[in-house]
Amino acid sequence: MRSIKALLLAASFLALTGCAVNVGGSARRADVPPPPAAVPAPPAVVPGPADDPRLNATLYMQQAEELRRLSRQAFALATIRLPAALRQPGSAALEQADGGAGKPPAVIFDVDETVLDNSPHQARAILGGVRHFDLGLWDEWLSERAATPMPGAVDFVKELRRNNVRVVYITNRECRPRPASPGQDCPQHADTIANLNAVGLGPVAPEDLMLKGQGGWPSDKAPRRIKVAETHRIIMSLGDQFSDMMSVTRRDDSTARARIAADHEALWDTRWVVIPNPTYGQWLDVLPAPTTDMLRPEIRQP
Ligand SMILES: [Mg+2]
Repeated sequence: MRSIKALLLAASFLALTGCAVNVGGSARRADVPPPPAAVPAPPAVVPGPADDPRLNATLYMQQAEELRRLSRQAFALATIRLPAALRQPGSAALEQADGGAGKPPAVIFDVDETVLDNSPHQARAILGGVRHFDLGLWDEWLSERAATPMPGAVDFVKELRRNNVRVVYITNRECRPRPASPGQDCPQHADTIANLNAVGLGPVAPEDLMLKGQGGWPSDKAPRRIKVAETHRIIMSLGDQFSDMMSVTRRDDSTARARIAADHEALWDTRWVVIPNPTYGQWLDVLPAPTTDMLRPEIRQP
């Protein structure tokens, strides 16, 4: 009995120290390193929707009550400012330097992420693994005419119409021929009017929607503002981008944009209203890659 116990203890010791145990005569010497075990290759990292840098911003657009409240507050502010904007002389357009006195009033809106919410398009891109803007998918989305209104937009547009203010939509949705619409130069124009009308932002007359490329309009919205200013006093401008209010260049970085904005405090305080859009925009386009370098861990005085 004592000898069996001793044998078991010895076997445990050898097993613990990694020494070879002679089993069936196929001993391996303890001083020979074991053959390298086959290391399984790490699974290939396939970026999925959860890794998409647009995920949180798109969720914020679609799920956050806070976004809905911000949008409603922006349009409520515009409504509060409307009587003074009508009453007081001056223009919201820098291009209308004469103030537009004597002309009937107009308000200029951007369309995307100002009065229409295109977040389903963005969600589809994320879920489909489409990391970059895809003009074909975007055009398909426009043809659906299915965008919903940004919260608060319909009420403000109705308020403008009650006050006989012309509502003009200036958008960089672009005119492009579409195989499904042969012979039409700008099917996007009809799509956008139908979408705006369907959600209560109309009735939109054809001349009250101006697209990029339509009649040769460039992406800079200034010439279209000048066109409106020929016949109307532009009393307010609303958009989710700087360029919806004034011309900026793609070379303007964040610091330059802040400086340019500060030149027009009076207009921000009275006639310009920004709609929140965390999902895309010039604010993001101007950041150099990698954007993580733009994070600021140091405390900066405002
Ligand atoms: Mg926009």
